[in-house]
Amino acid sequence: MKKHFTAFIVTIVLASSAFGAFRVQQADAHPGRTDAKGGHTCRTNCAKWGLKDGEYHYHHADGTPSKTPPKTGAATQEPSTALKADKLKAPSKGKLSVYFLNVGQGDATYIHTANGDDILIDGGKNEAGTVVVDYLKQLGVKDIEVMVSTHPDEDHVGGLDTVLKQFAVKSVYAPKVAHTTQTYKDFLLAVKSEGLTIKEAKAGVSIPLQGVTAKFAGPGKAYGDDLNDWSAVLRLVYGTTSFLFTGDAEAQAETDMIAAKETLKADVLKVGHHGSDTSTTAAFLKAVAPKYAVISAGADNSYGHPKKTIIDRLTGAKATVYRTDMKGTVTAVSDGTKLTFGTVK
Ligand SMILES: [Zn+2]
Ligand SMILES: [Zn+2]
Repeated sequence: MKKHFTAFIVTIVLASSAFGAFRVQQADAHPGRTDAKGGHTCRTNCAKWGLKDGEYHYHHADGTPSKTPPKTGAATQEPSTALKADKLKAPSKGKLSVYFLNVGQGDATYIHTANGDDILIDGGKNEAGTVVVDYLKQLGVKDIEVMVSTHPDEDHVGGLDTVLKQFAVKSVYAPKVAHTTQTYKDFLLAVKSEGLTIKEAKAGVSIPLQGVTAKFAGPGKAYGDDLNDWSAVLRLVYGTTSFLFTGDAEAQAETDMIAAKETLKADVLKVGHHGSDTSTTAAFLKAVAPKYAVISAGADNSYGHPKKTIIDRLTGAKATVYRTDMKGTVTAVSDGTKLTFGTVK
């Protein structure tokens, strides 16, 4: 399953349009973070909605502004989902905590640094958005310093708009790939309504954070409509411990990162593309040489992720494998020298 997104008719437009120049043609409402009361303060195009700048208001289910809270079916509520958040331990103070969140089929990783910064890499599918929000609230997250959208596939970017509406996000990184599905537009709109401009995630770009080194190893090239190979690949270092988050990067991107002599070595590998056999080539695994490998996949997913060949390849390389489909959320805590893993099940 090279592309897990065939249900949508995908039109690729000029890469630049997804970033600063992205314009919303027809806004149904002006999305924005709602507070505990279910309303929010108007920040953009207020006059268009018959509101004053800075006016507090609610939305009816059809998106029109309202002075009073809607009685039922609030527009800000997402559809309910069978997926539930695992019960997790709070981040350890003065340590780096990485949560490979169980979001069913998809990817979402939350990182709390020793300095107290919050990083979210991907947000699972659309219906996982509220679950990711539950996780973040449960873990005491107040705001998010860095959000990374690895690539526009729905099982990664789907829930990020919901997170953007619920939390103040300070910076968003994404590869400069254009994509016009409604899911990706929802994400771009939510970024825009936060007043943010996406920073480009590409090889060589460092995220300015205290106490850790966070640098992208990919993408180092343009990959046309191969969305998975466009994945932002982030290498995070804390003390002597290191992590590599690969999104859905596949063999071509892996080969290119090796050829570009990117530093790939990491103690912990977030295995590419849910353990699909289109990723984790023997050469890439040799370059990363992980002690631990984490696979984020849903139980009984229709893609057959993860593949047995990949599990065998990882264990053959002496990596301890953790799977969210079997163990629920996988947590890795680093004190700067030592790594400790925990699972829900
Ligand atoms: Zn993908
Ligand atoms: Zn994926």
